[in-house]
Amino acid sequence: MQSINTISLVQRYWQVYIQPGAFCIDATAGRGHDTERLCRLAGPNGRVLAFDIQQEAVAATKERLAKAGLSAEVLKASHADMAEYAAPDSVDAIVFNLGYLPGGDHHLATQPKTTIRAIDSGLTLLKEGGIMTLCIYHGGDSGFAERDAVLDHLRTLDHHRYTVLVSDFFNRSNHPPIAVLIIKEKN
Ligand code: SAM
Repeated sequence: MQSINTISLVQRYWQVYIQPGAFCIDATAGRGHDTERLCRLAGPNGRVLAFDIQQEAVAATKERLAKAGLSAEVLKASHADMAEYAAPDSVDAIVFNLGYLPGGDHHLATQPKTTIRAIDSGLTLLKEGGIMTLCIYHGGDSGFAERDAVLDHLRTLDHHRYTVLVSDFFNRSNHPPIAVLIIKEKN
């Protein structure tokens, strides 16, 4: 079996929860690895929306999808505005891979305030039974501010409405990213 890391863990969540025909949002498109995977899971009858604030990321994601023969709506827009593009209770899965664009400008990384706005907005867009996943990078360039702000916020979510599972690779060194799964429970 493949050894486990943060990315492979959230990918396993996607495999369990995302069915063909799903509506998925990639909140941080970057170079499109996650967008591509969501497109494959959602299949030809699904819909994938991807957001990034950087033109470089939008172009890289579109190029990756084109090479793979896949399609998604890739928008140069902030994930904090995702509610302008999807209806409440309509989305099956929303994924965040926080931090900066690999090989890009480290100053254009995700920020605590906008990330939290996007999480709250995304939770209203999820269907009951829908999921949100986050890969939270911390230490190094990212520091700890975003991790702390996001985890503090997630702790305040109503447990009747949302199940929040946080996985930390507790005995690994160098601050491995943290995987989060949020499930929107039935009302
Ligand atoms: N999922 C990506 C992939 O598969 O390659 C990696 C994402 S990268 C770690 C984080 C991305 O978040 C960067 O490309 C950055 O530009 C983007 N980002 C930062 N702030 C954002 C915002 N407010 N809205 C949308 N994307 C944002």
